[in-house]
Amino acid sequence: MVKEKIKKKKVISENWSMDMECKKEKNLEQCNCTYEPCSRKGTCCDCIRFHLKMRELPGCCFDKEAESTYDRTFEHFARLVMENRL
Ligand code: SF4
Repeated sequence: MVKEKIKKKKVISENWSMDMECKKEKNLEQCNCTYEPCSRKGTCCDCIRFHLKMRELPGCCFDKEAESTYDRTFEHFARLVMENRL
């Protein structure tokens, strides 16, 4: 039983890695972030991890005007939602 579970996990894990090719080029086509010097552009997993650590959200969570302020804080996002602007 335990061996079966381990086997299943391995298969899931192999499928997972097969499906997890980096989609950086595709992501870049849709990235609305205008902060040019950022090395995380298109690498969404790094981007969101970076911002969440600072209680922020990535630029793609904001509209064009809000994104351009570079204020990515939860508070800014919540304010915009409360004002029905997002
Ligand atoms: S949202 Fe932040 S981490 Fe993501 S690409 Fe823009 S500046 Fe970089």
